[in-house]
Parts: sequence; C-alpha cells; structure tokens
Amino acid sequence: MSNDATPKPATLKLADLKLSFGGPAASETAPDAQKSPSGESEDRPIEAKVVIVGSGPAGLTAAIYAARADLAPVVIGGLESGGQLMITSDVENYPGYADGIMGPEMMADFRRQAERFGADFVTDNVTKVDFSERPFRIWVENDEYQADAVIVATGASARWLGIPGEARLRGRGVSTCATCDGAFFREKHIVVVGGGDSAMEEALFLTRFGYKVTVIHRRDTLRASKIMADRAFSHEKISFVWNTAVEEAIGDDKLRALKLRNTVDGTRSDLEADALFIAIGHDPNTAIFKGQLDLDAMGYIASPDGVSTNVEGVFVAGDVNDLRYKQAVTAAGAGCRAAMDAEKYLEALEFPIEEAIA
Ligand SMILES: Cc1cc2nc3c(=O)[nH]c(=O)nc-3n(C[C@H](O)[C@H](O)[C@H](O)COP(=O)(O)OP(=O)(O)OC[C@H]3O[C@@H](n4cnc5c(N)ncnc54)[C@H](O)[C@@H]3O)c2cc1C
Repeated sequence: MSNDATPKPATLKLADLKLSFGGPAASETAPDAQKSPSGESEDRPIEAKVVIVGSGPAGLTAAIYAARADLAPVVIGGLESGGQLMITSDVENYPGYADGIMGPEMMADFRRQAERFGADFVTDNVTKVDFSERPFRIWVENDEYQADAVIVATGASARWLGIPGEARLRGRGVSTCATCDGAFFREKHIVVVGGGDSAMEEALFLTRFGYKVTVIHRRDTLRASKIMADRAFSHEKISFVWNTAVEEAIGDDKLRALKLRNTVDGTRSDLEADALFIAIGHDPNTAIFKGQLDLDAMGYIASPDGVSTNVEGVFVAGDVNDLRYKQAVTAAGAGCRAAMDAEKYLEALEFPIEEAIA
C-alpha cells in the first residue's frame, strides 16, 4: 500500500494523529485524516484489501480479526469515533471487565488492540459508496478508497427526545438501553417513554429493578401489540400516564424529576423520577448504502445470516443489522464473524477453487 509504485495511504495510525478517544474531538482531527502523512491531499484512490466502515465494538472487533489475519484493514471510523459506548459511563456486562469499565475506556482498549496488529484509522464519515463492481469504492468527501472486501458496521442510533437536560444527564439517570443500565436503578422510580413493543419490553424488564415503573405516552393508546400491552397492563409495578410528553429532565449530577406536559389540555406538572428510559426507536445508519445494499423495511441492512449482504464481498456487522439484541458483546461477535468471512472471501479470490484443486 505504501511502496513507490502505489500512492501513499491517506490513512494515519493513532500515534501519527496524536489523538486518542480521550483526546481532541474527532471533528478537530478529521481534516488531517483526509491527507497523506506528508500533509498533502490525495487525488488517487487509496487501496486496501479490506475497508471497515464504523469504529464501534463491531467495527473495532472486525479490525482486530482482520489485522491479525494480515489484511491491513483501513477503518473509516466515522466522526463518532468509538461508537455509542463513547456516550455512556459504566459498562458492567462486557465479559472480561469484572469490575466494570467506562465505555470510552473500553473502546480505547479495543482500538489499541486493533492498532497493535496494524489496523489504520481514518476519523471521518464515509460520504458515498459504489458497490456495483470490485474493487468496491468508498469515498470520504473527495478522497476515494478502494477495497476488495468491505465490512459495514455503522450502528443504529437510538432516538432521543431532544429535550433540555437530556444530554447532560445521559448516563446519570437518562438512558436508551434498559438491558445496559436497568440494574443501576434498584428500588428506584423508573420512567419509560414510548408506546411500542420495545417500550413495553423495556418497562417489563425494568420491573426487576424499580419499585415502580411509570410508562409515559403521548397518546391515549399504545402502538404495542396486544400481547405486550396486556402483559404491561397486568403488571402490578407498571402504571401509565397517557396523553403526556416529557419536556425536560431535571437534576444536577443525576436525574431528580421530569417536567411533563399534557398533550390534550397543555397543563404542566412535575414528576419525581430516578431514571428515564427513552424507548422510541432507533435509526440505523444506512443512508449512504441506499441503492447499494438491500435494506429491510425499517432501514436496517438486510442479511440472511447476520454477516453477508446482497453484494458478495460486502459484509455487515453489529447494530446496523440487529433489530433485536443491540449489545456491545453481540456487536463484537458480529464483527468477528464478518472479518472471518471477509478473510475467507479474499482467500477465495486469491486462490480460486480451480487453482486450489490443480
Ligand atoms: C447510552 C448507551 C449505553 C449503552 N450501554 C451498553 C452497555 O452497558 N453494554 C452493552 O453491551 N451495550 C450498551 N449499549 C449498546 C451498545 O453501545 C451498542 O450495542 C454497540 O455500540 C453497537 O456497536 P456497533 O459497532 O454495531 O455500532 P456503534 O457503537 O453504534 O458504532 C457505529 C460506528 O459507525 C460509525 N459510523 C456511522 N455512520 C458512519 C459513516 N457514514 N461513515 C463512517 N462511520 C460511520 C460511527 O461513527 C460509529 O463509530 C449502550 C448504548 C447506549 C446508547
């Protein structure tokens, strides 16, 4: 990739960029990542065997496996370098961290491990792809990358309410993941916002921890299936507040209360709460793949087996294909599978079956 006959890669190693997950904001470093190590802009495509799009647990695990298989992966990790765990505090359910670990620290560990085996990183968003033929083409603005295999690990962003106090109190009482954070709220008053199946699932799960779970919904009926709604209605710990929107999350170092507004008569009230779980859905980060990869009805990348896509040589990993589990460990597992399949695919390209038999 970097001999005289081929253009110098525009990808830089972490050490070259002098950035870490705890360092400067990704956006501050992004322009550098589009230049060669000499600082000059690249015109010619940058070639790689494997490009990995995304640097959450799925992308970084794929990078570890691909790098250890000597594939020298280029990780175009996105502006949210490290993925969703960068915005959370304690992670207590990832195997191997017996005392728990802070999300950003864990992702820095993942990245160090990938770099140790030679993965290169670009801290920027992919803006366009062309998967119509090999080599596959991937652009970061005007910089073009070409690869024989691509692993898409762009995640799915949880929807937030966008209310005052929400961002500040994330990880301090406000969350979008009951499986991840429910256990922090034993014997507390937990509020769930949403009216679909996942909101009911989250509310039922949270009854294991809270002494009371209040579901707040904007309308007077649920979108959830009858079976899920019935389960929630019949649970003694769950109560419902109808026709109500949460307008503000209140608290200094942790959530203390919520400001509510009745959506019918506009009256306002406060509700004391220790935790707010927002369960209003996720948006898979697949806009750039529309027309290139098959997506399902909800916009997730379609895959028959959780690894392959409709384009041979393009693989998928993690939340971007996972409606159901959405956990760091499942995303990491998917990253491993995608990298192993990419490796087999590249091997088959290099040693076609006829040659192998001969
Ligand atoms: C608040 C919170 C707390 C959580 N706590 C836990 C927990 O305790 N335990 C647990 O197991 N799970 C937890 N999760 C869930 C976990 O974070 C996700 O399941 C996991 O991060 C999914 O990994 P991923 O690699 O598939 O995607 P993500 O982590 O979402 O990473 C996606 C990556 O793709 C990149 N990307 C997106 N678009 C582009 C683009 N156009 N070009 C290049 N890159 C792009 C992003 O920048 C990012 O790096 C939590 C989630 C949240 C939101």
